[in-house]
Amino acid sequence: MKKKLLLIPTLSLTLVVASCGTPKPNVNNEIKNFILLGLDGLDYQTLQTKVMPLLNENAQENLVFDSKEFETSVVDSGNAWRTVLYGSQYEVTDSNGNPKKSGEDIFSKVKAKYKDSKNAAFYNWFAMNPNSYTNNNNMTWGVLDRDVNNALDDQFDADSALKENEGYNLSSLSDKTSDNNPFKDKLKNLEEAQTYTDFIYENAMKENENRSIKAIDQDFNFIFHYDTVWDDLHHGEFSYQTDNEIDDAVLDKIVEVYAKWINYYFSLDKDKWFVGVTTDHSRDEEDFNHTTDNAKKSWFISNQDLGTKYKYNKLSSFRDIVLSK
Ligand SMILES: [Zn+2]
Repeated sequence: MKKKLLLIPTLSLTLVVASCGTPKPNVNNEIKNFILLGLDGLDYQTLQTKVMPLLNENAQENLVFDSKEFETSVVDSGNAWRTVLYGSQYEVTDSNGNPKKSGEDIFSKVKAKYKDSKNAAFYNWFAMNPNSYTNNNNMTWGVLDRDVNNALDDQFDADSALKENEGYNLSSLSDKTSDNNPFKDKLKNLEEAQTYTDFIYENAMKENENRSIKAIDQDFNFIFHYDTVWDDLHHGEFSYQTDNEIDDAVLDKIVEVYAKWINYYFSLDKDKWFVGVTTDHSRDEEDFNHTTDNAKKSWFISNQDLGTKYKYNKLSSFRDIVLSK
């Protein structure tokens, strides 16, 4: 029998606005430290049914959760993240589908705005990397273009580190059918599923987590902590829809890590740290692709009361808020 998710209203509706009592004033004007946790491809059903129940009371009380919509027509991950980080009006590709350099990234903007500011980007998708990505047309920038290097005081690409250490990227590790996946054909019981997810966590997630926490301790101004494991697992055909206990165990483990991160970031002093959590395409779990109207929707969680000025803004609101402080 096919497993059914809990009934979710259509995505065009505002999904949840969990905020108590009278709206508080807009985001604290004194805040100069920002964290954006980007969870690639985390669909809204999973967020609601799996992640939200694991969030601690502090996080739940401060959730602001609206559906948003990308203005871009092509919602692949690269375009979508460039829209988040470069602004809602960012035209991400030219007519040939090549990256189009325009607009200015949030890292450079923060650097220009705050004297002695420190920025960091921790990610595990090689295509995010401003140094390593070369596309089919030999264009040499990633989702973050090379100029971003000048505005980053710390960055780490766990995907490239994995490739260097183990000889394969996260995308092949996540792909059940890839010959480059050492766990191929091994995922036959829950114990092996645990070993597999432990391996992914240790090699593709933990270092970014550690570096992000360290950057918080060092009072960085802007930290972009990006994770693509959820997206990669789905492209590798892991799904809650298959009624397969191995898939469920693997995905549950990743959900637990995401909830752990959100709880940690939401436990920070909200008078000092503005926390945003978002995704790049929040399609249906049952309709996994990057092209439907649902893919263009997204969600945004903040530890702040955003007020109407930002709450109903486009997805770039995190960037807008940071730059308006
Ligand atoms: Zn994506």
